[in-house]
Amino acid sequence: MKCLAVLLLCVTAIAAFPAAQKDDLEADYEELAQKYLERFYDLRTGGPVGRKKNSNPFSEKLENMQKFFGLKVTGTLNAETVEVMQKPRCGVHDIGLYSTVQKDSAWKKTDLTYRILNFTPDLRKADVEKAIEKAFKVWSDVTPLTFTRIYDKESDIEISFVRGDHHDNSPFDGPNGILAHAFQPGNGIGGDAHFDEDESFTKNNHPYNLFLVAAHEFGHSLGLSHSTDQGALMYPTYPNTHPDEFTLPQDDIDAIQYLYGKSTNPIQPTGPTTPSRCDPTMVFDAVTTLRGEMFIFVNRFLWRKHPQVSEPELLFIQTLWPSLPAGIDAAYENPYTDEVLLFKGTKYWALNGFDIVRGYPKNIHKLGLPKTVKSIDAAAHVESLARTYFFAGGKYWSYNEDTQEMDDGFPRLIKDDFPGIPRKINAAIYYRGLLYFFSGRMQYEYSLESNRLLRVSRSNSWLGC
Ligand code: ZN
Ligand code: CA
Repeated sequence: MKCLAVLLLCVTAIAAFPAAQKDDLEADYEELAQKYLERFYDLRTGGPVGRKKNSNPFSEKLENMQKFFGLKVTGTLNAETVEVMQKPRCGVHDIGLYSTVQKDSAWKKTDLTYRILNFTPDLRKADVEKAIEKAFKVWSDVTPLTFTRIYDKESDIEISFVRGDHHDNSPFDGPNGILAHAFQPGNGIGGDAHFDEDESFTKNNHPYNLFLVAAHEFGHSLGLSHSTDQGALMYPTYPNTHPDEFTLPQDDIDAIQYLYGKSTNPIQPTGPTTPSRCDPTMVFDAVTTLRGEMFIFVNRFLWRKHPQVSEPELLFIQTLWPSLPAGIDAAYENPYTDEVLLFKGTKYWALNGFDIVRGYPKNIHKLGLPKTVKSIDAAAHVESLARTYFFAGGKYWSYNEDTQEMDDGFPRLIKDDFPGIPRKINAAIYYRGLLYFFSGRMQYEYSLESNRLLRVSRSNSWLGC
């Protein structure tokens, strides 16, 4: 978490550079970019580094890199690109995009062996073993693959913790930067996974969680390349996922099953997908404003939309708030206190801007909700009434923000007071005088004044679809 904070500070500093200093930015980061593109995009060393577009390999490779990470393709260095280049990542290159996963890069057998050659002093031996075992299970759970640990002879996947130049032509780089790398299936070094001993590997959420890094590397050991899906485990940078909440994303399941076939389990495992803006099946978990911007939560992600920007931005919740969980239940902004409240299960958090207010999370029963309510479906704050409505299981409560108490006479049934609104609500927001309910993929526009349903339309119209 410490590193993430440092990284964010760094990004802010870069983004704050006035335009006049842009050339300085290019000069400062040109060496970083040159090395990055040589290492991960096969830019040949020693070539001239001109500034002319279309005529130099530097720009071409930079464009490839920007394309891979879904950035604006400019062929020139900018703050956004530098930010991505500074992220901790895997040491394997990103050129798999241009030579799609080949079936012949897979092992020709499904029963594989591994051996742990040495241990990192960062963790107890048992914790390393547990992390490695769990990382293999990620892949064996969704395929017919099995992994057996052996001790006394060479295995298919040899695991070691090494630092600096470790004689495989891919030296490590000290703390941060490259965290680990692994080799495609094959004899000798094929399949092996190396972890940079200059990192601090952990068993918790702090960078760098050994299980998450190992699960990614074993993907390479099994023949996978990097994915351009930013939610995928095989995305090149360190994942924005709490290790306890990790489930293998669908993109990775599809890739590994392409190589080895489906699991023998009668119930086929499925994984989370990364939301795409106009996907008509996308369901909003929670919707709120935050100081003039719109925030729409969808599982591990949020869509952030600034009124002056036409395209919303997709971010990990963890990138903005590392301690918040995925799958937010409800959210609302209280403009009097300048706080945004986020709910999950029986807990809720208050945000002041982008900081979590001290003393949170608190328990939702402190708001006056009965103990039988274990989670809420949605929340909406109506500024003109100084009321917040909490919706749960077909009922709703009215909270007086002035007295900080629940109004008498609640809960009431949603169907009695909001005719036409479905019983199951996923999210709600009061916005510009209207109450919007989100249920499944649809939204219901409701007028409190005339007490009637005005319109039903697709939820993703909020994302410009
Ligand atoms: Zn990788
Ligand atoms: Ca490193």
